[in-house]
Amino acid sequence: MDFDDFKFHPQVCAGVTAIGYHTPTPIQTQAIPRVMQGGDVMGLAQTGTGKTAAFVLPMLHRLLSGSRSHVRGLIIAPTRELAEQINESIIELGKETGIRSLTIYGGVNAKPQVAKLKQGVDIVVACPGRLLDHLNQGNLDLSHLETLVLDEADHMFDMGFLPDIRRIIKYIPGKRQTLLFSATMPDEIRGLAHEVLQDPATVQVDTVAPAKTVSHALYPVEPHLKTAMLLELLQLTKTESVLVFTRTKYRAKRLGEKLVKSGYRAASLQGNLSQNRRQAALSGFRDGSFQILVATDIAARGIDVSLISHVINYDIPDTADAYIHRIGRTGRAARNGNAYTLVSGEDQIMIRAIERMLGSPLERCTVDGFDYSVASPRKNTEFDRPPRQPRPRRKPARQGQAKPVQTNQQGDQTKSSTRAGRTGKKNPNRSGLRRGRGTAPLGVNLQAGRGGGQGRGGR
Ligand code: AMP
Repeated sequence: MDFDDFKFHPQVCAGVTAIGYHTPTPIQTQAIPRVMQGGDVMGLAQTGTGKTAAFVLPMLHRLLSGSRSHVRGLIIAPTRELAEQINESIIELGKETGIRSLTIYGGVNAKPQVAKLKQGVDIVVACPGRLLDHLNQGNLDLSHLETLVLDEADHMFDMGFLPDIRRIIKYIPGKRQTLLFSATMPDEIRGLAHEVLQDPATVQVDTVAPAKTVSHALYPVEPHLKTAMLLELLQLTKTESVLVFTRTKYRAKRLGEKLVKSGYRAASLQGNLSQNRRQAALSGFRDGSFQILVATDIAARGIDVSLISHVINYDIPDTADAYIHRIGRTGRAARNGNAYTLVSGEDQIMIRAIERMLGSPLERCTVDGFDYSVASPRKNTEFDRPPRQPRPRRKPARQGQAKPVQTNQQGDQTKSSTRAGRTGKKNPNRSGLRRGRGTAPLGVNLQAGRGGGQGRGGR
């Protein structure tokens, strides 16, 4: 099967060609024909399978006929990051369609969202909390809605969003197409599917199975004791090569330095390294000159070292899927591997998601003799960045040499970078990994912005 078989509108086909997809993925092959027929679909598929295009392409096709500037497509996602990623797919795939989409999530000023809603959009990609706020305040009219997508429904359940979803559905016409995607199908999601879907077709693609040769353990510990716990584990355990994962590049770098200071042959691998240094870290890890490699998920892509005996998640990953990928680095070729994860209170949601994906609870371990009682410092500065060096003063611009201004497709001026970290606002969900991208100004994304604020899409 290829994309021509779906008989998409030529403007949608143009988006597929521009993005460079040649062959539909299995979830697309199964889901798209059913979605195009207008029926409800329950898709069992995780991130990475191509599920986004499986609902975005038919939605774009459908919206090309009929009236514009009413919200006719609504996609609900659990996190801001996912909402931005979906919107980015809409923008890329819908490049030639003129269809306008908008992301709505909490943690940012609501006013620009209201303003864009007033201008008229065709698709809203939203996190439940802020969406419900807008609905309650009458900022958003869903009476023209034709297609509702609930993406990563199990994740929404984990985050406690199901009551909000049920409230939102009261604002939506009963006569609609509903598509529900979930990586797993706990009873609660089965119940929700029963309530919101009518006579759905079920499509399913295989989930990535974790290697059976890996044993998993969680080590609950306060965040300020993670480094001490890692050192303790390294001392107590007989290891070959050890791959340690952190949430951010800076944490990888700092932790690598700390391990070296503690006498380990360690290196860190993170996106800021030059190609030479990256190569040196990798080949040193491969030939055993470095016993420990500290890396972020992105930097660790493609690491294939057959002797990795332990994967240690210094920071828990952002998705259950990422957990499976991380631990897939050990226990290869039927050797036994170990996956240790240091966890603290804030990681409970992700632990549940991982346990569900593995199909069994993870063992909680304590380390005898480890001093768990050390009090947290008033301010934990372990991973604070050193103060910036003052920048050399710039020469004043000569008259007539205006600073270049970037514009988006609408000709609006945009900031060259509006990453969450620069706004000075703390990210409510300290997740920091899946595909870091720039954040669209204030959560608004009308065809031209790029997005990526991460975290729970609360109010
Ligand atoms: P998703 O599961 O929707 O997050 O998609 C995972 C990745 O697969 C994204 O980077 C998509 O751009 C890419 N993708 C989706 N469909 C296709 C396709 N048919 N061919 C190649 N890449 C695809």
